[in-house]
Amino acid sequence: MTITYQVKDSVYVNLTNRCPCACTFCLRNNADSVYGSPSLWLEREPTIDEVVASLESWDWKRFGECVFCGYGEPTERLDVLLAAAAHMKAAHPNVRIRVNTNGLSDLIAGEPTARRFAGKVDCISISLNTDDPAEYLAVCRPHFGEAAYPAMLRFAEEAARYVPEVVMTVVGEPVTSVEKQERCRAIATRLGARLRVRRYEPGIVTAKIDE
Ligand code: SF4
Repeated sequence: MTITYQVKDSVYVNLTNRCPCACTFCLRNNADSVYGSPSLWLEREPTIDEVVASLESWDWKRFGECVFCGYGEPTERLDVLLAAAAHMKAAHPNVRIRVNTNGLSDLIAGEPTARRFAGKVDCISISLNTDDPAEYLAVCRPHFGEAAYPAMLRFAEEAARYVPEVVMTVVGEPVTSVEKQERCRAIATRLGARLRVRRYEPGIVTAKIDE
């Protein structure tokens, strides 16, 4: 079972395969690994002890970043995510902690969650995808329906108050036109975040893993 895996110079954490979205572009639709990682499908979700043991199997002198991002939405397991992040902050204070998320943790938890990331996470990267709520609904197909897009924006705005860096992402051309990128940048800026335009790679358009 792959709990942690390496992507470039970072160690990624794979907490769950659950996700409230069914994005049309999700890498889970046609692959079970990324960048040569072992399969990211989990036969069961790892416990916090297993996550910590897996984190401790890496030589953290070689890696500057720990990223919560796997084949699923990491905030589906917010308690475990935050406990693991707290462990990393205590044991490896020089390692940057990032969460790649669809930004729907408030809806998943049924309550505001941004404040809980304070002091444990250095960066939250949120998949904005588009400036158009109707397009978001059609492409990301969230279980929460129309409530998802405004909830994602609200989470981003609140996260910017508690976390040093909030990034919102879109995929570059040809998926997102330059004009649309600028509208997305205006949204991110208004919320206190910065926009990151991810390079389009055919077959790797998943919202989170190749950040
Ligand atoms: S791309 Fe991300 S948010 Fe969309 S279905 Fe896949 S894991 Fe969920």
